[in-house]
Amino acid sequence: MIIALLLLAYAALLAVAGPYVVRRARWVERAPRSGIIAWQVLSLAFIGSLVMGGLALSVPDLRVGTDLAELLQACLVALRAQYATPGGAVIGISGVGLALLVLLRCGWRVAVTLWRAIADRRRHLAALRLLARQDGRLGAVVLDHAVPAAYCLPGLRQRIVLTSGALAVLSDEQLQAVLAHERAHLRARHDLVAAFAAGLTSAFPRLRLFTAIRDETARLMELAADDSAARSTHRLVAAEALLNVASQQNPAGAFAAGGSGTGDRVRRLISGVTPFGRMRLAITGGATAALLAVPLAIFAGPAATLLDTACCPTGPFAPSHVQVCQAMPTVRNCPPN
Ligand SMILES: [Zn+2]
Repeated sequence: MIIALLLLAYAALLAVAGPYVVRRARWVERAPRSGIIAWQVLSLAFIGSLVMGGLALSVPDLRVGTDLAELLQACLVALRAQYATPGGAVIGISGVGLALLVLLRCGWRVAVTLWRAIADRRRHLAALRLLARQDGRLGAVVLDHAVPAAYCLPGLRQRIVLTSGALAVLSDEQLQAVLAHERAHLRARHDLVAAFAAGLTSAFPRLRLFTAIRDETARLMELAADDSAARSTHRLVAAEALLNVASQQNPAGAFAAGGSGTGDRVRRLISGVTPFGRMRLAITGGATAALLAVPLAIFAGPAATLLDTACCPTGPFAPSHVQVCQAMPTVRNCPPN
């Protein structure tokens, strides 16, 4: 019970403190890719703590050795003690229910979000087949439209889309920066990360933790793509390119080069950022791993118990109560010799 309460308290701590940490972290400006990973791990740590907390509620607190007789005795006594009373049974079943509910709801909402994004992109691709033309030199499709816009459609049939308006205003170097930005989105499979973050937000709509993670993840994915564009050309070229396609809105299921937040991104590119060195990357990586390691370490005891409990002999090969009593006369409810 103490382990379950510790895990649930850890989940509550992440839910309360997480949004402040996510929204106020400044180090992610210098290492957006590490930030994306850290915030997804934070999501997993919260969900994992809830699930493990539920499982810990349902598993008796066993302390067993390797001896078969001792294991049998521990299984019988602990399971009987856990589920003998109405209160113990309610707590145990509630724990399993909580773990299953969290897992199923998260899995379902992420799958639905992913499916909707795929459907949006499929409709978009169908329209592009009618309206746009392939440009083999650019590795993109070109849509005749006056508004300067550049975006990508991720997935198995990924496409980079440029409007004729964008081609008219972008210089060759700026065009290279825009293409590098979009290729970075496609290469890193930002569509999967976005679906994961958005799906969890819809699974827990009242939790500010997931709203903050979804918004910050979207922003950091743009910063990471901007950094790729800056590396392929120059940060000032990338900033100019962004300004030239800043007026566009992000189509559903796509990743645009411009769109909301472009002003801050341009300022960041102009002022320049010093990327993290190996030492700082290692420190943030360690801190990120610790987010998950804490609940896993707390749960290690009940997990071992769970595995041991699953080894309790059942079915036709299970020992009868009389056989157990013969082997272990100290088990409760055994008739006196
Ligand atoms: Zn982008």
